[in-house]
Amino acid sequence: MYEHLKQGDAEVFVALDGEEKREAEGLELIPSENYVSLAVREALGSVLTNKYSEGYPGKRYYGGQEFTDQAETIAIERAKQLFGAKFANVQPHSGANANIALYMALMEPGDTVMGMDLSHGGHLTHGHPVTYISKVFNFIRYKMKDVSTGEIDYDEMLEVAKREKPKVLLAGYSAYSRELDYAKFVSIAREVGAVAVMDISHIAGLIAGKAVKNPFDYGFDVMTSTTHKTLRGPRGGIILTRESEELAKKIDKAVFPGLQGGPLMNTIAAKAVCFGEALKPSFEAYAKQVVENASAMAIAFQKGGVRLIAGGTSNHLILADVWSSFGISGHEAETLLDAAGMTLNKNVIADDTRKPLDPSGIRFGTPAITSRGMGRVEATRVAELMLDVLKNGESSVERVRTEVKELAQKFPIPESFA
Ligand SMILES: *Cc1c(COP(=O)(O)O)cnc(C)c1O
Repeated sequence: MYEHLKQGDAEVFVALDGEEKREAEGLELIPSENYVSLAVREALGSVLTNKYSEGYPGKRYYGGQEFTDQAETIAIERAKQLFGAKFANVQPHSGANANIALYMALMEPGDTVMGMDLSHGGHLTHGHPVTYISKVFNFIRYKMKDVSTGEIDYDEMLEVAKREKPKVLLAGYSAYSRELDYAKFVSIAREVGAVAVMDISHIAGLIAGKAVKNPFDYGFDVMTSTTHKTLRGPRGGIILTRESEELAKKIDKAVFPGLQGGPLMNTIAAKAVCFGEALKPSFEAYAKQVVENASAMAIAFQKGGVRLIAGGTSNHLILADVWSSFGISGHEAETLLDAAGMTLNKNVIADDTRKPLDPSGIRFGTPAITSRGMGRVEATRVAELMLDVLKNGESSVERVRTEVKELAQKFPIPESFA
């Protein structure tokens, strides 16, 4: 691996080689990360990075597009099939860009978006005050009604939406472990004249693999997503439109030329490969196993007396309150577990009393360990190892790290997915 780099640039080679080893020897529990196949990596590292392809298939600004058009068309057709969409834009460089383009397509500056409160699971790009986009549009919030079950306060959502008249009603999250009531979202959006949008960044793979519900089946108008989380593809974004050609045209214009320049054609080819993998029946088995493994970890944590936000999980991720359960902060937990070879992230919990950089919770999930072939038994064992470290602190780190390394060696990162 990296023969030419090793010869030509020893400094960068060292960084890549180090990351190869880190990924192989540790357990990745960050719920937004995964391992891509070598086929995806070949497309990513391909000659398509040399090409300028501003525009869309059949309507480009430069010549020489016969093969880029092929790659992008395959990506579009597969994305449509995977999610049941009539239109797909596969050009957003990232999930953040997909969301910004969507806001640009549907609103004028100053217009209102209603999304999930950020401490209740919403994403930075849903209008966090540190983002530029939060200065352009007016973001208002809904929350959970009951943190012990994760139920959203739909009555309040309707009341606020009626008063504030959002142009976009945004569902979706990066730190929420339950399914939303999609029918309620759509009915509220229709009642106030908003476009119903779901940001499926975290659960795209679970939707594609039919392990959770598809918001389009409940009438959502648009879905934005990343392609690198549960979907197990290259780092990037997509925007899917269920039905409306008018919306899809606005979205295409917002992505290019509205927001971006030339598309990353190598990434788009890699997206096509990832969508092809996700269309295989084996991907359904993967997605279902991801959810089952998360549920096994949640059960182990609850047996260990840990407080879980939303009372457990119905998807791939778990939010645990380590401050009230173990008297250590999320930051301390993250550092200890990392030393023991398990990578995850600290996370704010609903209405956190601690600061964002040192919050009360940790967030972890099963997409990556499931890609390594782990099942219920191993997921439960990983949860037990985490609990060992969280309960016993520093004194357990050495011992646990040895077992983590053994487990990682028994389940090497696959080069392809059957
Ligand atoms: C990850 C995520 C994004 C942003 O994706 P990037 O590719 O990191 O820009 C947007 N929305 C949600 C809900 C996410 O989880």
